[in-house]
Amino acid sequence: MFDKILIANRGEIALRVLRACKELGIATVAVHSTADANAMHVRLADESVCIGPPAAKDSYLNIPALLAACEITGADAVHPGYGFLSENARFAEILAEHDLDFIGPKAEHIRTMGDKIEAKKTAKRLGIPVVPGSDGGVSPGDDAMAIAKKIGFPVLVKAAAGGGGRGMKVAQTEADLMLALSTASNEAKAAFGDGSVYLEKYLGKPRHIEIQILGDGRGGAIHLGERDCSLQRRHQKVWEESPSPIISPAARHRIGEICANAMREMKYLGVGTIEFLYEDGEFYFIEMNTRIQVEHPVTEMITGIDLVLEQIRVAAGGDLPCTQNDVTINGHAIECRINAENPVTFRPSPGKITQFHPPGGLGVRIDSAVYQGYVIPPYYDSLVGKLIVHGKTRGECLMRLRRALDEIVIDGVETTLPLFRALAREPSIIDGDYHIHWLEQYLASGDTKPH
Ligand code: ADP
Repeated sequence: MFDKILIANRGEIALRVLRACKELGIATVAVHSTADANAMHVRLADESVCIGPPAAKDSYLNIPALLAACEITGADAVHPGYGFLSENARFAEILAEHDLDFIGPKAEHIRTMGDKIEAKKTAKRLGIPVVPGSDGGVSPGDDAMAIAKKIGFPVLVKAAAGGGGRGMKVAQTEADLMLALSTASNEAKAAFGDGSVYLEKYLGKPRHIEIQILGDGRGGAIHLGERDCSLQRRHQKVWEESPSPIISPAARHRIGEICANAMREMKYLGVGTIEFLYEDGEFYFIEMNTRIQVEHPVTEMITGIDLVLEQIRVAAGGDLPCTQNDVTINGHAIECRINAENPVTFRPSPGKITQFHPPGGLGVRIDSAVYQGYVIPPYYDSLVGKLIVHGKTRGECLMRLRRALDEIVIDGVETTLPLFRALAREPSIIDGDYHIHWLEQYLASGDTKPH
């Protein structure tokens, strides 16, 4: 096992990793930018190192500074959290070159899955069902039109290097295709330095269903069921739940086994998420994330497996926590991502939290790094915290969620809490009857009634 882990992240995920390390008896090193000197992860870690000015490129993405921090503190492994360097294969290699362990998958797997075109090819080869589309990249003027016609309109232009919904454009008809190709490609080039794009069939009203997997790197792998992340705004997840209200045990078993088998064949190491769109009883692979995800707690709540702790264990060469047969799904869990944003315009609202009262009681969990008096800096994402609620049934979970949402107090900044209070009372949500465009349609209809 590792002796000392450096956590190359901030916010709630840095705290989440810190908690797992403490339970395992591993010493922790927090790193922070000058803007995060008073952050909770810095206060709770055994040691901390300032790695640069506020801009992420100069601090949390600053590889030489992170290596120096490892050197100074004698850390033997790095946990990257999510975002920042978590899916940077080169970073994993550089750590290895310095005799440091990267807590995450093998660099080759991060690289393959980070290129969405390669990821789709790999998925197909491993027997995972994929969205119909171009077999590789397409360029404007090329045979793009012929491929699009073959797939059938509407088609979605997607960036090979995509992430966070950027570099994605829908072409409803033939007339839209060339503009969609160039816009998506330019956006991808600006955001990721790579303008390669590919085509996919645009699905009308699918659900976003993702499978959590955990591999030991030696050919052992298990799946931990699905998460339904269909409630999205601008392709960003807002509300996640597990199990999905619409996936049957038989469907879960079928797709879960396909994913676990693929990971066994790859000898995948660590946690990963295989994302699908689900429509008319069929699963279509869209991408794989080779890191811990924001929404991992809902899976933890229903399986009782600590994903971050197990991620650290397998990175150190340990065994999987159990066999596939021993994975059980108990009850239902829902997560709300509470952002410091105006609940109607979604404009970020950084600033000082003047009052903070987290909700409590049976089945209620808050993963957050804020506290009363904390000043949310304007430089990073606007996640204030995640409210995760568990119940024996989905009905009980929703009942408890409404209560917890009414109890929580976050004052001083605007938050998306009013939106969640409305959603938890919305008949379509209560019925589990929604799809990936539902939330945007709901927001456009102006039905958000603040509670
Ligand atoms: P990113 O890496 O940018 O998050 P994804 O491939 O994961 O991109 O897709 C993000 C979201 O975009 C999905 O959850 C879904 O809402 C939408 N999306 C992706 N592919 C399709 C598709 N073929 N048809 C319809 N919607 C899609």
